[in-house]
Amino acid sequence: MSRIAFIGLGHMGGPMAANLLKAGHQVTVFDLVPAAMQSLAAQGAELATSAQQAAENVEVVITMLPAGKHVRGLYLGAEQPGLLEVVAKDTLLIDCSTIDANSAQLVAAQAAAKGLEFVDAPVSGGTAGAAAGTLTFICGGTDAGFVRAEPVLAAMGANIFHAGAAGAGQIAKICNNMLLSVLMIGTSEALQMGLDHGLDPKVLSDIMKVSSGGNWTLEKYNPCPGVMENVPSSKGYEGGFMVDLMVKDLGLSQEAALLSNSSTPMGALARSLYVNHARQGNGARDFSSIFEQFAKTKK
Ligand code: NAD
Repeated sequence: MSRIAFIGLGHMGGPMAANLLKAGHQVTVFDLVPAAMQSLAAQGAELATSAQQAAENVEVVITMLPAGKHVRGLYLGAEQPGLLEVVAKDTLLIDCSTIDANSAQLVAAQAAAKGLEFVDAPVSGGTAGAAAGTLTFICGGTDAGFVRAEPVLAAMGANIFHAGAAGAGQIAKICNNMLLSVLMIGTSEALQMGLDHGLDPKVLSDIMKVSSGGNWTLEKYNPCPGVMENVPSSKGYEGGFMVDLMVKDLGLSQEAALLSNSSTPMGALARSLYVNHARQGNGARDFSSIFEQFAKTKK
């Protein structure tokens, strides 16, 4: 069992840290929002007063933060010393946030210059996967870093992939989220068209799930309210994966497409539709709320 610092206890990080505790690891936690730490304390975590304090004298640091600027700021330092300055020799650094590959490569290079392994390990599986410990981890980094990260990540996930060198995990992750956004929008417009023709969305979902239109959003995350229990669409689109984070990921995918001169027309359209949805005040709602853009009656 390892001594682990877990920094960033939001929708994803909170349940992920809880699974490390359940697996018997000794976990010290920190979040800028003190309230986010309280439920972890009740589950046996030690509370730190800063990220730097959490990261001292541990074997592994795990971060789960919103975006690249937060990850660069925390590891490389801005107003406070960066984590690269305060961690013990040989500490393994794992960042599970979804960020741009350039930031992941920059932090990995600066970590390597100090003899530290940094693994980018963004996740797929949503808040339900985080709670159930069934996330997919998509790693980028050296073989040695990946081998060390794998047993730690196993306490929080069911599938662990090594996509390639530093930053490769982030590229694979944004390819996945670009596809997810397209599937969510396509599923939403198809379900609404069925509704407009008087179909029962549950029956239509059951049909499409086992037909050639079947996809993850129909199986696990139906965007039409009332079709599935325990998904954001049946809870007023609360919780889950925020529209603002999907907008961030789609921006990252378009930046990546520019760098590689890739043609991604569906990804570009999906970004535009999600930006529009966010601008209408939906940024903090779950990304399946894009369904309302197609509904006859809006909120
Ligand atoms: P969130 O906004 O709920 O949580 C982020 C947490 O980080 C917040 O509690 C915030 O206070 C904390 N934080 C920010 N800067 C910090 C700092 N310097 N020190 C300590 N804490 C800090 O976001 P989330 O939904 O948990 O997502 C986290 C990451 O995971 C994002 O990159 C997101 O794209 C990715 N992701 C999210 C989901 C999902 O379904 N929510 C799924 C896959 C991947």
